[in-house]
Amino acid sequence: MTDQFVFTPLDEIEKIYNELKVTFASGKSRPIPYRRYQLIQLAYMLKDNIKLFEDTLAADLGRPQLEARMLDIDPSLVEIKSTLSSFEKWAKQESAPFSINFSAMRPVIRKEPKGVVLIISPFNYPLFLTIPLMASAIAAGNAVIIKPSENTPATTTLLANLAEKYLDTSLIRVIKGGVTETTKLLEYTWGHILYTGGGKIGKLIAAAGAKTLSPVSLELGGKSPVFIDSKCDLKMAAKRLLWGKAANAGQTCVAPDYVIVQQDFQDKFVEALQQSYREFYPDKASAPGQMSRLVSQQAFNRVNNLLKNTNGTIVIGGDTDEGTKYIGPTVVKDVKPEDCLMSEEIFGPILPIMPVNSIDEGLAYVNAHDHPLSVYVFSQDSAYKANIFDNTQSGSAMANETIIHPAVYGLPFGGTGPSGSGYHTGKYGFDMFTHLRSSLDSPGWLDMLLGFRYPPYTTAKIKAMGRFMNPSLPARPKGPPEEHLLLWPEA
Ligand code: NAD
Repeated sequence: MTDQFVFTPLDEIEKIYNELKVTFASGKSRPIPYRRYQLIQLAYMLKDNIKLFEDTLAADLGRPQLEARMLDIDPSLVEIKSTLSSFEKWAKQESAPFSINFSAMRPVIRKEPKGVVLIISPFNYPLFLTIPLMASAIAAGNAVIIKPSENTPATTTLLANLAEKYLDTSLIRVIKGGVTETTKLLEYTWGHILYTGGGKIGKLIAAAGAKTLSPVSLELGGKSPVFIDSKCDLKMAAKRLLWGKAANAGQTCVAPDYVIVQQDFQDKFVEALQQSYREFYPDKASAPGQMSRLVSQQAFNRVNNLLKNTNGTIVIGGDTDEGTKYIGPTVVKDVKPEDCLMSEEIFGPILPIMPVNSIDEGLAYVNAHDHPLSVYVFSQDSAYKANIFDNTQSGSAMANETIIHPAVYGLPFGGTGPSGSGYHTGKYGFDMFTHLRSSLDSPGWLDMLLGFRYPPYTTAKIKAMGRFMNPSLPARPKGPPEEHLLLWPEA
């Protein structure tokens, strides 16, 4: 952990890229036993060094031990384990569905690695947003370069040192660097680029990918709203919301960003939040081991300025300490749409509450802005929940829970539009780094059926083709769309 953070020299980056290309082309990364070995090594790289990672997360982000374990280390181990258990099945080639016309050609989908892939990660979850993605790329048989954030120098240095010790450096490398090094990496052609971070940089990454025709997935952020129904379990809603906002000092891509609540329910909800706040922090929230810190002075200044400039009323917290980059869990009520707290993703432990006169007003507000990464709703009323889910768009839609869904096994994680494109975790991560290569092996005798395709073209051959490709359609609709939909099953 005491190792200095030294950026990877630019000429070294060139060498590493070329070396990985050559090794990938040799086929070394493809055999299943090879992939399994590297995945097990990756798991032990983490498991053997839990204490060191706890220390680097504390150094970089002031992470309390429970958050280091629950939000970064342990879910990364779980992800590697589930990839290990299933990747062989995911990697198996699949037969195309039976078709009378084409099955004789033995059509199959080969699951092939995409090549040398690039993963660019942000600072906020320095392990959960690097290690499981490396696992997906390795499981899919790729060579991988990972570029963790320069804003978490201790964790990035440890990751780079351990990767050299545990993993095959001819196929898996960690690059230490910031903008210059990432810009250099983006000059090359990649099998796939996965970027996680803010939307502004996301546009640069997408443009760089377009220049080299490298496929790009973007995992971005945004302002994730929370709808609070007066028919919610108030105590549970307050607890889960305050936790989701305070964890990692609000530096979570899916952190609940702001609350929409009916005007006449606002104060009751604030009281419940105050109660949870007292329970969570019987001493001070700033007491050792209770709250993460903002990642940098710049991040502290940005969030602190939002707090200073809000016209809302602070009803919880508001305590800050510049020296330790500490901002306490803070709730601000009576926030108006034009308030600075509503102008950008907060990415800090401040929760604005924006009261509305009706749920439709809240929905209209959300729908007039970028599709967020998550929409949250706290309610015990199915109709209320359905109304929110059915009338908004977002990466994910969660009822009565916050921030935990990226770790839920089997669910894809990703945004939509301005909050991102592409999905990962579990099989979705494997699929992202996998090329579905269509393949067939056509027997000679098939020309007895398909011989009509060859010149000279004749009327008889056109008739033969018509017998081969003549899909029968359902009956023609008998009326306008609604009626037609009703009639469809009988047609
Ligand atoms: P960051 O500052 O750590 O940057 C992210 C990565 O981009 C880093 O590796 C950095 O080196 C690189 N980078 C920065 N400037 C660059 C440039 N000009 N050219 C090329 N690369 C550059 O993290 P951040 O962007 O502040 O992360 C916070 C954002 O990430 C928030 O918006 C958050 O919502 C989002 N996020 C999304 C997810 C997700 O899975 N969807 C997860 C975590 C964070």
